[in-house]
Amino acid sequence: MGPGMAVHVLNALAREGFEELVALHDRRSGLQGFLAIHDTSAGPAFGGIRRFPYSNENRALVDCLRLARAMTAKCCLAGLPAGGAKLVLLDQPGLDLERAYAYLGEVTERLQGRFYAGPDMGTGMAELSALCSTTRFATDPGPAGPGELAQATAAGVFAGISAALLALDGDLDWPRRRIVVQGLGAVGTELVRRLVEVGAQVAASDLDPARCAAAEREFGLELLPPGSEFGARCDVFSPNAMGGLLHDLTLARLSARIVAGGANNLLARSAHGDRLHEAGVLFVPEVLINSGALIRGALFHLFGHREPVAAIEGRIGDRASRLLREALDEGLPPARVAQREARRLLSQRRREAAHAPRPALERSLGAAEGGPPVC
Ligand code: NAD
Repeated sequence: MGPGMAVHVLNALAREGFEELVALHDRRSGLQGFLAIHDTSAGPAFGGIRRFPYSNENRALVDCLRLARAMTAKCCLAGLPAGGAKLVLLDQPGLDLERAYAYLGEVTERLQGRFYAGPDMGTGMAELSALCSTTRFATDPGPAGPGELAQATAAGVFAGISAALLALDGDLDWPRRRIVVQGLGAVGTELVRRLVEVGAQVAASDLDPARCAAAEREFGLELLPPGSEFGARCDVFSPNAMGGLLHDLTLARLSARIVAGGANNLLARSAHGDRLHEAGVLFVPEVLINSGALIRGALFHLFGHREPVAAIEGRIGDRASRLLREALDEGLPPARVAQREARRLLSQRRREAAHAPRPALERSLGAAEGGPPVC
């Protein structure tokens, strides 16, 4: 690594107020990756582990930093006494997954609760089990863990869709609504289930034919060829596949009044949120509505409490309604308003932490005796 890169990294950390960046290499498993801790001013940092075949370490690092920062914004907007982190690892053929995740567990354990690790792309049940073999500070995928994570995320997205319909039309009237869901994975499938339950007209797409077939069998829903979903006429387009899919080419084809989905970092660039606003499309920022699993996981780890999915839906729905109302009243893109609010809350947390007599982590863990905070 040349000296130029080190300066670039340190500048990026200082600009965004990161606390820590750890470069990881495990001789035994061959694992390489990064752990970024963005903020612990209000409590421990929560973040998933993403395993992805990044084409180079710079891409992995940029993804790690962006996702950790977004987790802090999510915690602030969800009113959680917690902050953001992310662990990414560069996937490669032959990586010994069991050893790699056991090593990540050791790294996590050494931080003694400053960082809690959870699932993300490439980190499912098997990986989490290996992780939990060496740390107490990770999401247990079995009955000892928080459970119902995808359900909680889907409930938040459903609440965001409802809030947007109410903000625009003043009613829900589900049977009249056409919703296009992109991605039929854990979150997309649970969202479809909820939408079908309330009687909405649902169409969906996925790159994986097996997932399409399973959803068609279970819900009898209309399937769209992958790629065509962007142009499908609908009230709501709900992207629940991958981040960065809202860009110049896809926005030009969009034919929805509302965009509200659960995938992280949906907008390729923040200017795309402005473009949606100029086109008269109500974009519900994912950072506001995809925090269901985070809320469920954080309250479980910090307070031993399994927040009911319905309560998570209500909590996210209230916050989304308030923020959308504010954006509509001010005539601003909701993504800008969410960003402004997250920054305001973070500055407040950091000011309070600077004046706190005891470290923030100790304070928030101490609060556990009183049960989950009322936010
Ligand atoms: P998943 O891996 O279970 O499902 C993703 C699905 O998207 C897969 O079926 C995949 O085939 C499909 N897909 C990928 N690219 C596609 C494309 N271009 N068009 C159509 N389908 C495509 O993931 P998940 O857990 O359901 O999460 C979905 C998204 O939500 C991810 O971006 C994830 O980071 C985000 N998210 C998930 C949670 C959670 O609780 N699982 C929480 C917060 C955010």
